[in-house]
Amino acid sequence: MRVLAIGCHPDDLEINCFGTLAIHAKRGDEVYICNIANGCMGDMLNPPEVTAAIRLKEAKAAAEKIGAKEYICLGVDDLSVNSYDEEQLKKVVDVIRKVRPDYILSHGIDGYMDYQRDHNEAASLVFNASFVATIPNYKSKYPVYETITPIYFFEPSASNAFRPTDYVDISDVIDLKLEALRCHESQVKWLMEHVSKDVVETTKATAMFRGRLCKTKYAEAFKRCDQVLRMTPKRMLP
Ligand SMILES: [Zn+2]
Repeated sequence: MRVLAIGCHPDDLEINCFGTLAIHAKRGDEVYICNIANGCMGDMLNPPEVTAAIRLKEAKAAAEKIGAKEYICLGVDDLSVNSYDEEQLKKVVDVIRKVRPDYILSHGIDGYMDYQRDHNEAASLVFNASFVATIPNYKSKYPVYETITPIYFFEPSASNAFRPTDYVDISDVIDLKLEALRCHESQVKWLMEHVSKDVVETTKATAMFRGRLCKTKYAEAFKRCDQVLRMTPKRMLP
């Protein structure tokens, strides 16, 4: 199986679905990790270019930690993710056409919003691109991908309105998930300084809460995209 996870910033996937991706990788599936933004605003002192370079290194290390097949960064600046930008759309279409995934994990906006615009724009970009990728007359670097890919939305970083439809038991890989998250050293520091948040602890607490809801120790929660042609008779999550 080929799984494509598209997160907005470096660390979004680690927080919200790296346990699930680790399970896929462990069982031999091909896991592709893509970030739309370069993370250039995530620092108190360093300038954007320096911050982006640090975060690229951190994201690659985290992807390696779980045995992902490839890490891809589309290089859009933070706070500039825009679902109406043709160039950005083409970049996401190209990732989908290149990977040809069985399903996509990404941000969602299905009845709820996340706390910052980049995440919501990323969700719209991925949803739109996964359809555009199937259109033969839309030309890009890679050949058309005929499948309208099923999508599962992962938990937003902040929304009380998120209602999961599916859970993945990540109890066996919780340590690996948190280890991968700790690769984002700059963000563990930045989130503490900027919003007084211990991201490793809150990520663990969220997994514990989701685990409690589905009778296991640690879990990640997802919402199936139930738009027409996106659904499948079988569950794609592990
Ligand atoms: Zn983010």
